[in-house]
Amino acid sequence: MPKELSFYENVEKYFDKATTYLKYDKGLLAQIKVCNSIYKVNFPIKVKGKVKVIEAFRIQHSHHRMPTKGGIRYSTMVNQDEVMALASLMTYKCALVDVPFGGAKGGIKINPKEYSEDVLEKITRRYTAELIKKNCIGPGIDVPAPDYGTGAREMGWILDTYMFMKPGELDGYGCVTGKPVALNGIRGRTEATGRGVVYALNTACGFAEDMKKIGLKTGLKNKTVVVQGLGNVGYWASKIISEEYAAKVISISEYEGSIYNEKGIDIEKLVKHRKKTGSIMDFAGSKNLKTREEALELECDILIPAALEAQLTGNNADKVKAKIIAEGANGPITVEADEVFIKKGIMVLPDMYANAGGVTVSYFEWLKNLSHVRFGRMNKRHQEETQGEFLNLMEEATGKNFSKKTRNLIVKGADEVDLVRSGLEDTMITAYLDIRNMQKKKKTPDLRTAAFVVAIDKIAQAYGSMGIFP
Ligand code: NAD
Repeated sequence: MPKELSFYENVEKYFDKATTYLKYDKGLLAQIKVCNSIYKVNFPIKVKGKVKVIEAFRIQHSHHRMPTKGGIRYSTMVNQDEVMALASLMTYKCALVDVPFGGAKGGIKINPKEYSEDVLEKITRRYTAELIKKNCIGPGIDVPAPDYGTGAREMGWILDTYMFMKPGELDGYGCVTGKPVALNGIRGRTEATGRGVVYALNTACGFAEDMKKIGLKTGLKNKTVVVQGLGNVGYWASKIISEEYAAKVISISEYEGSIYNEKGIDIEKLVKHRKKTGSIMDFAGSKNLKTREEALELECDILIPAALEAQLTGNNADKVKAKIIAEGANGPITVEADEVFIKKGIMVLPDMYANAGGVTVSYFEWLKNLSHVRFGRMNKRHQEETQGEFLNLMEEATGKNFSKKTRNLIVKGADEVDLVRSGLEDTMITAYLDIRNMQKKKKTPDLRTAAFVVAIDKIAQAYGSMGIFP
């Protein structure tokens, strides 16, 4: 049996494959690929009178742009290889969607479900203090965000610890993103990664020529969707794709098992059911599948793995029947499975593109923190007044009146969340066009290779402009 590649080795393979389409100096490519700095720390925490040693990481992959940026993961699977892989992907992701950061990632090797909120707060604050001690956090240094097992609550604790230890730092709020809105976070960040996945799918499904190749019609309406993971990314992606784009989410897979309903699952009702019973199983109108993995092999148009890495591997890739796979999670497809999907003609929207919505809106949050003003605050009313005046003039000139609904639609000035969504959609569309054009230009076998080529090219140009490399 060939040895299974680690997550980081998978990313390296994708990188090496992409560089065969580029003509850069070997030394430059080696510098782009390598993880610049690896910080591992162990610290003690007292839980119910007993000391526990906690293992944690912060890895900065690239400093070609500063600050570095990337989420913090709480999981028992956290290890150096995983964090290196995730930090590398962050660099390529940021370059692809033109977010001016280098890539980083952090992780704490714990199962957050095993600890009370108080202990989790203690761990998070201690981890933040360790990062401050080593100069590994700050609005111009390295800016964490949520990832698997963390959310706005943890980001709030990180912010508070940072502000306490760095009093008077004017731009301090930009030390972390994904914060609660009440702590200077941004509206639309919580949903951003899931929404970005849907914008990515909507863009890809808009090309009749590409859809024809895989036997699908354009658009998302009535497309059947299977989602793995009903956490932050999976929940928002399933909710938005079904409620706003009329696609049918026919199956959800979670830790405890998977469910199926050919008529489509009501995501809000499912979430309520899970809150009440502690599980997605036995949900009214849906049938329980035998295993959680079975969902991945269902007949469907779109599969969104939004849980963890290495879910589609050499062992199950042959059984996957989806026509499109959008990687909500980071690294859910191994190199072995990727080769199978290329042969089968399955369209894969790669992680570095499909889940880039999170870091895109984190960038907007960081900009908001540095500018100390909410987006839309200065111009909303002015916009409403001038647009209202314009409609009045049109009514006078034509002698016709606009309905109240039309007037509201046109006159309404943009709020923060409107601007965030618009900026996110524009980013996802632009990046898709870049990838698709690169695929055509270089004739790469898949979108992933093309996405890596676009990203590496941009990073190489940044290094080139520093005059270090030929
Ligand atoms: P989360 O912790 O909110 O949710 C993950 C969910 O997956 C949990 O509900 C968990 O129970 C479930 N899960 C775990 N193992 C599973 C399995 N084998 N089968 C089915 N379900 C399983 O995490 P998240 O923030 O949604 O992150 C999910 C993935 O998306 C990760 O790979 C993360 O790196 C990536 N991602 C997250 C963000 C973000 O903004 N949160 C941004 C980019 C990428």
